[in-house]
Amino acid sequence: MTPLGRLIAARIAAQGPISLADYMADCLLHPDHGYYTTRPALGAAGDFTTAPEISQMFGELLGLALAQAWLDQGSPAPFTLAELGPGRGTLMADLWRATRGAPGFHAAARVVLVEASGRMRAAQAQRLAEAAPVWVDAVDDLPRDRPLFLIANEFLDALPIRQFVRHPQGWAERQVGLQGDRLAWGLAPPARIAALDHRLADTAAGEVVEICPAAPVILAAVAARIAARGGAAILVDYGGWHSRGDTLQALRGHAYADPLAEPGLADLTAHVDFEPLARAAAPCPVTGLTTQRALLLRLGLAARAERLARGLTGTALDSHRAAAHRLVDPDAMGTLFKAIALHAPGTPAPPGFDASAHDA
Ligand code: SAH
Repeated sequence: MTPLGRLIAARIAAQGPISLADYMADCLLHPDHGYYTTRPALGAAGDFTTAPEISQMFGELLGLALAQAWLDQGSPAPFTLAELGPGRGTLMADLWRATRGAPGFHAAARVVLVEASGRMRAAQAQRLAEAAPVWVDAVDDLPRDRPLFLIANEFLDALPIRQFVRHPQGWAERQVGLQGDRLAWGLAPPARIAALDHRLADTAAGEVVEICPAAPVILAAVAARIAARGGAAILVDYGGWHSRGDTLQALRGHAYADPLAEPGLADLTAHVDFEPLARAAAPCPVTGLTTQRALLLRLGLAARAERLARGLTGTALDSHRAAAHRLVDPDAMGTLFKAIALHAPGTPAPPGFDASAHDA
């Protein structure tokens, strides 16, 4: 067992089984042994890769969409340019380079990064020196006194979830307990969970549903700032409109792993449910849910890919073309990943998003 596994097992032995959310929080962000606090995590040498690490076009196109929303709102200055969970800083670096030509955007932007891991902050500091970022621990610490233009990719999927199994008498929460000296799944006694009343109609006994308690709180904090001062937010993640089944996954070395086997050594994520996010974003208008594929193609991925291809030959050209496909192919990230945007009341939706219709 890993050192973190021993700590968790001792806690369970003393105090009883813990929720999956508590387990995930320890695995990802434990100050000494958490995955994001200790591991390189991202990129070819890490455990998983993400759209900005695959191609510079991802950050460029989303950055230009956000800059257009800023122009559409009258180029307010100063404004907060924020990212949630920036990883290695690649998305923000590409966004920053691509928006150089938007008149006044760089001069007005105050870059604020929401990042819990000191290790990740160090990587971001190196990468983003030109944008002079400051860091905050949580979304609630984002400035309240200026417009907020915000982006997040694969942040919400790292937030701890709870899982419940539908039971004739209500919902039994999945817990992490002990079998001998090993971590093992268990179930709490069934109870009524008011937040899941609306799922009684579309689930049957034995089915698993998930809730992510932190996500709506985060969305509400972002939306409150945007509604009060102006701004927009673009959120990209893998998932769908409604939670369906057990979506917890552990990744280590680009391969699936057992989520209980090596606490702290594997990345743990879950599908993001966009419906509760959209509900929490009131009073801001929220666009329809769109696939990453449709969004990037509407933002001009094909033309940008051709432009970049002109300067490349040989294996560099091949890997550029493969990266473009990976972002939009239905067999790769194209349809598994989804996006929504919220924007200040009375302002247009950022480009690339349909104001209301879902296309995913
Ligand atoms: N957006 C990046 C990285 C995704 S990995 C990309 O697309 O490549 C998730 C990121 O969120 C990491 O930087 C991780 O340290 C950070 N993170 C995870 N949970 C967090 C939390 N609760 N608060 C703040 N940052 C968090």
